[in-house]
Order: sequence, then C-alpha cells, then structure tokens
Amino acid sequence: MKAAVVHGKNDIRVEEYPTPQAAAGEMVVKVKASGICATDIKTLLGQGLPKNLPTILGHEVVGEVFQVGTDITGFIPGERVAVYPIAVCGECYYCKRGRHNLCDREFGLGHGIDGGFAEYVRLPSQIVKIGGVVKIPVNLPYDRAVMSEPLSCGLAALRTNRVQPGDVVLVIGAGPMGLIHLKVNKWAGARVIMADVLDRRLDVAAKMGADDCINSKDKDIGAEVARLTDKAGAEVVITSLGIPAVIEQSLKLVRKGGTVNIFGGPPAGQMISVDPRWLHYYEINLTGTFAATPEDFRQALYLIAEGKIIVDDLISDRFTLDSMLDAVERAKNQEMIRGIVEF
Ligand SMILES: [Zn+2]
Ligand SMILES: [Zn+2]
Repeated sequence: MKAAVVHGKNDIRVEEYPTPQAAAGEMVVKVKASGICATDIKTLLGQGLPKNLPTILGHEVVGEVFQVGTDITGFIPGERVAVYPIAVCGECYYCKRGRHNLCDREFGLGHGIDGGFAEYVRLPSQIVKIGGVVKIPVNLPYDRAVMSEPLSCGLAALRTNRVQPGDVVLVIGAGPMGLIHLKVNKWAGARVIMADVLDRRLDVAAKMGADDCINSKDKDIGAEVARLTDKAGAEVVITSLGIPAVIEQSLKLVRKGGTVNIFGGPPAGQMISVDPRWLHYYEINLTGTFAATPEDFRQALYLIAEGKIIVDDLISDRFTLDSMLDAVERAKNQEMIRGIVEF
C-alpha cells in the first residue's frame, strides 16, 4: 500500500509500505479520510517521536471496513466507520471508570502503532473491544465524520469544565482546537470570548460565532476580560496552546469559583507558579484535558450527524496522500485552519 511514512525527526516520505492484515480480534480499515492534527506535526518535529520507527502518523481516521479478524461480530466489509484512536486495556482502574484516555497501558494510532496517513490501517483488538469502531450514520459524509476525533476532545474539555448555559468561556488561542472549543461551548449555551495574537484567526472565530474577540498583542487581555465580564473574570478559561507563560497569565482571567483548563499540551520541563491562597480562597479548579473517552467520541459523531455542531467550515485544506509533504509544510507554517487527507 501507499503511506506517508515517518523515518525520523522531520523526515516523512510517501512510499510503499506493507499492507496490514487483521489477526484475531482486529480489523483493517480502508482509509477514506484522515485529519491532520497539531499533534502529528509536533510528533514529526521530534516532540514525542516514537522509538519504533518507521511509523505512520494520523489518529483522526474514517473509512470502510476492509477486513474483519476472527472473533469479531457485528461488522462486515464495506461498512463505513469512524475510529476512536486510543487502544486501551479495558481492565485497569481508569478503564473501569470510563476514563479510557488515562489508561495505564494506552497506546494508539500514530503513537505506538501505525496510523491513518496510509491507504489501510490496522485496528488492534484493544480499540475494537471497547467499542472504538463506530458506524457512521447514513448520509453523513466522510469529510464531516472525520472531525469527530478533534470534536470529541473539545467535548471532553466541556465535560471537565462543567460549563453552564450563560457562562463566560474565554478561549486563549484561536487555532484549530481553539475554534473547536468555540463551537462546543456555543453549543452548550456559553458566551465565548476568543483571544489570539493574529487578527486573521480572530476573524475566522468571529465568523464562527465568537461573542467577543481580543487581540492580546494589541490590547491588554486582563483589562479587556475585566471590561467584558463586569470585572468578574470568566467562569472558564481554556488555554488552547500549551505555553507556560500564557497559562500563568490565564490564571488572572478566571473568576472566583471558576475553572482553568490547560488543554494544549505544554513542553516538558517547564513550570508555572500558582498562589495557593488564590486556589484556596477563590475555590479555583485548575485542571487539564487530554484526548477524550470513547463516550465523548460517539457523542461527537452524533452531534455532527444531527447537525447540532457544524464542522464544514473547520476544514480549510484538502490533500491527497501524494501531496502529504505539502500538507505538512502548510501545517507547520500554521497556514490552514484544518487540513484533511482524502483517499
Ligand atoms: Zn488530534
Ligand atoms: Zn486501562
């Protein structure tokens, strides 16, 4: 098969690669669309690059069931499916509580095993047995279904943040994930303020329904948030980019009793400082969200299918596997909202 294969740091090549086979309990899916995520680019540039090279990245995968291993019932070749990308044990403390994304033995597509930037992808039994292969509702095209994975991460954050209708949610960073936070929080009935340093990103956010936009390069974000919230601060602050200095600054923007969610993965080895009196007396929830659960994933797919959350405008660029190197360049330079590879 043809695949975009990673051989090392910043070394990705479109080439022939062995076509996977489904063993007992496994499935092989013929990929129809794969989303390009910031995580893929971070990984390619060396942050968390797996040891088992060469490898194939891509964890936002939809396609057609191609081969079904023995021991699997309920799926036949040709069915359209979306894939929850995390393989988990299903038995540990976290899995038993539905918090599969925290599984002690987790690995997944594009981290540990080959992902979806290829014509075919093998799904290990650890994905299949937890219900991670979800049938795509009739009439939902692949290029919408493929957004269920990133959307599920937004829903996971929404769940953690316990957003109520009417809450003010401040999203710092209007990149691809920031816009997803915008959409899920609007769906939940929140008033959403978007902050970024780039006007072109804020323009996109405004078009997608942001109630207020702050260019934090031009304006003092603290003063602006105070002005927009009657000096109280936001109920929820989501830092969609994992820059420690930005996270530290975000702590000043939340109101008493509010929640700060560190969503964007910060680099290793950096610290922030937090005033424990502030945490205590203001009862601040300082938390984070990493990936999503299978339940979030199924909910995301259905919200898209039912038209409750519109995702079409999140896809700005479409590629083929042959143009994968171009896609990587555009993603590195942050030139697109979100790109997908179609097959
Ligand atoms: Zn992703
Ligand atoms: Zn587990």
